Amino acid sequence: MKTIALLGSTGSIGRNALDLIAAHPDRYRVLALAAGQNIDLLAEQVERFSPEVVAVRDADLAGDLLKRIRPRGETEVLWGCDGTARAAALEGVDIVISAITGAAGLEPTMAAVRAGKDIALANKETLVMAGDLVMREAAERGIRVIPIDSEHSAVLQSLQGHDIRDLRRIILTASGGPFRETPIGDMAGITAAQALNHPNWDMGPKVTVDSATLMNKGLEVIEARWLFNLSMSQISVLIHPQSIIHSMAEYRDGSIMAQLGVPHMITPIAYALSCPRHLDTPIAPLDFSRISALTFEAPDLDRFRCLALALKAAEEGGGMPAVLNAANEIAVELFLKEALPFLSIPQLVERVMNAYEPSTMETIEQVLEADAWARTAAREEAGRMR
Ligand code: NDP
Repeated sequence: MKTIALLGSTGSIGRNALDLIAAHPDRYRVLALAAGQNIDLLAEQVERFSPEVVAVRDADLAGDLLKRIRPRGETEVLWGCDGTARAAALEGVDIVISAITGAAGLEPTMAAVRAGKDIALANKETLVMAGDLVMREAAERGIRVIPIDSEHSAVLQSLQGHDIRDLRRIILTASGGPFRETPIGDMAGITAAQALNHPNWDMGPKVTVDSATLMNKGLEVIEARWLFNLSMSQISVLIHPQSIIHSMAEYRDGSIMAQLGVPHMITPIAYALSCPRHLDTPIAPLDFSRISALTFEAPDLDRFRCLALALKAAEEGGGMPAVLNAANEIAVELFLKEALPFLSIPQLVERVMNAYEPSTMETIEQVLEADAWARTAAREEAGRMR
């Protein structure tokens, strides 16, 4: 029996994780849940899983939640960043599923690492912002950081049973999103509704927009670098519109290992909880006879400027990836509110990156300062761009 703290339980990853946990009550038990502000769903989850602890974003929400759950259960209600961090570090928890979206995931994930918990990581921003610090701390404490991102799960599986010294490179696949073939001239008018309509994956809004700009793939390159301790020259990106091959590892003799499957997040969530074993899931087997072609192409860095910017930030290192990430979070937020055009997302990110004075990151506090600086700079810059 593994005990679990689930951060981001009301989100797309969180809901899939709870379905999986509910299907395996003999293997997994939820001890803590944390979410932002979706109190209706959280109250249902508390009733269904009876966690010891639940955390929400602020004190008012905690009060609302308490009113709904108090008559029935013994669950302790916490709030704020501290409350979420306490839920993440709860005694008795074996593994923390880190699935809050955005930079808000960093501090609770780090709290879990410091408390010696294994991490099943969906919140790629944790490694984008502070990969070096988080992975060093994890190594010192002897804990595992296991990816939930389907690409990284595929890489992990493609590395099993091989010697890392023989690895030539990993190849992260990307669907290319909904605008892979949109004429460049039509891209200026892309709406939020169009960007949220991903061809293959059903995900939360932020990561769906990032998949449309390919910023998501850039963030994944940075995540992969820290997760697998690779140099940037060992990481390639390949467009594969069918999203059947989730990623690959190429070895020095030319052998390539790949992991394939139906594109559904239940599979990598299950693997993160059970690896190296595989769990039963409700996902229908992949029917190769119905796939007419698996196709590939190089990413177009002119069309997808966000990918180019992320690669640049990764090369520069220091605080630049945190700055890229924060500026992108603001840009996507404004785009979803229809306050910034689609093509201005990379422009805004680039301007903030250009204004940043590069510096090294020795502590999480410095990372959070770079994040805060970039958010302010991005809002000011967006005001000037309007
Ligand atoms: P969603 O937007 O669907 O869910 C986000 C979750 O985070 C919700 O539970 C939300 O709570 C919670 N949350 C947001 N802000 C805060 C905060 N300040 N404090 C506490 N909780 C907060 O996102 P996804 O599930 O799509 O993505 C989660 C992470 O997983 C992201 O980092 C994403 O990049 C990554 N990922 C997602 C994939 C997917 O298929 N969805 C695939 C691979 C990676 P509430 O809704 O209650 O406010």
